[in-house]
Amino acid sequence: MHFEFFFIIVAIIVGIIFILTLLMIVSPKIRAKFMSRQIKATKYMIDEVEDDLTDIATKRANINKEGIEITAKAIKDGLKDTVYCKYCGEKIDKDSKFCKICGKEQ
Ligand SMILES: [Zn+2]
Repeated sequence: MHFEFFFIIVAIIVGIIFILTLLMIVSPKIRAKFMSRQIKATKYMIDEVEDDLTDIATKRANINKEGIEITAKAIKDGLKDTVYCKYCGEKIDKDSKFCKICGKEQ
């Protein structure tokens, strides 16, 4: 007796879920309603964790900033160490007194 009752309840629930799924596939309107609820839920979750998200964004921005600073410094140092001959324009060592290409004094 109890088992039959349980079976009918489960059958009804499964039927309702099946119909709702079918309606969602067929009807864009129902899909839109469901999606807007999902979006509202997501918005609510974002509002709840806004501070944490801001923290993460700030940390990421700082990591990127540090990376850019290191790269910029490397480029700057690289340009500073590169010296060109005044006469022939070839790249020469920073400390060399004479050009190894044309031999002229720097
Ligand atoms: Zn030279």
